[in-house]
Amino acid sequence: MRLGGEDPSSNFEDRTGQGGGFGGFGGGGGNMLGCLLPLVLSRFGIVGVVILLVGYFALTQFGGGGGGLLPSGGPSTNAPSAASRLDPNMKDFLTRVLGSTEQTWGEIFSKQGQRYTPTVMVAYTGGTQTQYGFGQAAMGPFYCPNDQRIYIDPSFFNELSQRFGAPGDFAMAYVIAHEVGHHIQDLEGTLGQAHDLQARSNEKQGNAIQVKVELQADCYAGVWAANARDAQGSILEPGDVEEGMRAAEAIGDDTLQRQSQGVVVPDSFTHGTSAERMNALRTGMQGGTLEACKNL
Ligand SMILES: [Zn+2]
Repeated sequence: MRLGGEDPSSNFEDRTGQGGGFGGFGGGGGNMLGCLLPLVLSRFGIVGVVILLVGYFALTQFGGGGGGLLPSGGPSTNAPSAASRLDPNMKDFLTRVLGSTEQTWGEIFSKQGQRYTPTVMVAYTGGTQTQYGFGQAAMGPFYCPNDQRIYIDPSFFNELSQRFGAPGDFAMAYVIAHEVGHHIQDLEGTLGQAHDLQARSNEKQGNAIQVKVELQADCYAGVWAANARDAQGSILEPGDVEEGMRAAEAIGDDTLQRQSQGVVVPDSFTHGTSAERMNALRTGMQGGTLEACKNL
């Protein structure tokens, strides 16, 4: 992938120096649970899904969605960058991919007569493992509709490469573009509609709705890739598509469940199978439009 011509995005917050996992959220685990769009939720298994769903419903029920996740604006969200634990190369990569999504989605929205409001990316370290018992691994990136931010622990990319066997810059960019895809859904209003519907559904139905949302985000990641250009043309290089497909395959619910718990429980799927995720990403890359992602 060629990112040299991209302007790095300034919609970026470095909270890696703050430690303490989600301390920067200005709240506890209950607040974090409202952000229900991690990339690989099902790796936590059924119990994790139930916990997250319960958290989501609790939040919805008690009206916590109105601002519980908003950073307080206090010192915790503006820690001095001197304490940063973010590798400068990683920061460069994250902000350039984000910048590319801003440029690309800006153009797509403008063709539709709309203005694109960018998301903000928050880099953090620490994951959630010590506070919530979700395991050793860094939590996958997620989008939080309440504050319209993407949260990402860059150490997840090591996992993607090593544990999930999906290395490469485009594999990483796909992960980011998937989360930006949720932001697009948020701007479209479909994300909120899906969450409203989930609040009125049982767990199985709620999961099925979630799968649709996730596959569409994969497809939107493909739409970004199809349209992402610099002065020399497409930023994609040979091998990039394969990297993306390998990542989509690696984080399919069936593959993750087989690895983590040995059995596959389709009713508990929240992101779609490997085949579905690969198909969604491919559909977006080939179609190159939002419309292409309507019926996955
Ligand atoms: Zn997602």
